Amino acid sequence: MSLVVQKFGGTSLADAARIKAVADRVESTRREGHDVVVVVSAMGATTDQLVALAAEVSDDPSPREMDMLLSAGERISMALLSITLNSRGIPAVSFTGSQAGILTDSSHGSAKILDIQGTRVRDSLAQGRVVIVAGFQGVDPESKEITTLGRGGSDATAVALAAALGADSVEIYTDVDGVFTADPRMVSDAMKLEEIPFDEMLELSAGGAGVLMSRAVEFGRRYEVPIHVRSSFHDGEGTWVRESPMEQAIVSGIAHDRSEAKVTVNRVPDRPGVAAALFGSLAAAGVNIDMIVQNVSHDGSTDISFTVPRANLVDAERIAKQVAAEIDAESVDVDAEIAKVSLVGAGMKSHPGVAAKVFETLASAGINIEMISTSTIRISCVVRADDVEAAVQALHAAFDPPAIYEEVGA
Ligand code: ASP
Ligand code: MG
Repeated sequence: MSLVVQKFGGTSLADAARIKAVADRVESTRREGHDVVVVVSAMGATTDQLVALAAEVSDDPSPREMDMLLSAGERISMALLSITLNSRGIPAVSFTGSQAGILTDSSHGSAKILDIQGTRVRDSLAQGRVVIVAGFQGVDPESKEITTLGRGGSDATAVALAAALGADSVEIYTDVDGVFTADPRMVSDAMKLEEIPFDEMLELSAGGAGVLMSRAVEFGRRYEVPIHVRSSFHDGEGTWVRESPMEQAIVSGIAHDRSEAKVTVNRVPDRPGVAAALFGSLAAAGVNIDMIVQNVSHDGSTDISFTVPRANLVDAERIAKQVAAEIDAESVDVDAEIAKVSLVGAGMKSHPGVAAKVFETLASAGINIEMISTSTIRISCVVRADDVEAAVQALHAAFDPPAIYEEVGA
């Protein structure tokens, strides 16, 4: 008997009718002869509402209590789904992350899964039950505190659980049909990809494609669990994220991200140790840096710009100003009106000219590039936030992903 892990996102569980539809799907998967483990997100916009409520009562809620609060969202949906299944005569049981043995480190709000024990999950499966696990949460085994994995973290729960239980694959049910070559709300002829390799999906997720959390993709790659991203509204095939034997696309897709902000430290003295002081202090405060650009120095000083999640901008600005004073830099500017656009494709490794074509395309659209960063399979540009939609559209039109084995520039 094979084991299937199915994860349902918030829209797929938004109300009683949707929960019943999820129960239908679980029921039919069981009828096909599979054991089923279900991972649930919180219903609809529950998590956003809880975040907003906390903001109404405090400017600075403690990370521990935020995790107590937010982990409640998934408890509601897991219990409702279990009640629905049991009422139909399908034996089901729900577990919190902690009950399922999902062990994490201690970082509230962005905890990493260290191990999954899963004893109760396996026992309940052996008793013939459907097991429903609350996504997005775990427990720090040392402190016994409840943790959450970061927004979108139920995806990571599902893939990690699939790996731990030896499931054949994991299905991520969502409100879109799969992974698209660009956000279909921006690009009307964006295409659904049939499959995409882990590495490219990782770059798209890191570039802002919200369809799959990047840590989930990392688990899939590490433990070789194929991930099927598909719609909960119909039975059509979605997108398979897996190691693919297929030809490489030059460009698989274009992601964009409006969630970052830019910090510039002006006239930093050009001497050893300065970047270490700045980024060391930011790292110590838990601020994640994405792009970094340092200019050539003139007259012994240079400007350093970097991007951070907008949610960390206040911390980043404070720290940058402290360090700037210590190292005798002139001033610090912050800019929240930026966005990042990323072109992703494994084929660009072996096709010269992709970067040049990106820059030409943006230039022809009158879009100024403020920062650039690359990996072997990605090119990202920071542009004005107001320009990002035009940038995605222009790049999609120019590259027409998934452009397999087409000559760049042809
Ligand atoms: N409910 C959490 C969130 O909204 C986790 C998830 O949906 O995956 O981010
Ligand atoms: Mg999600």
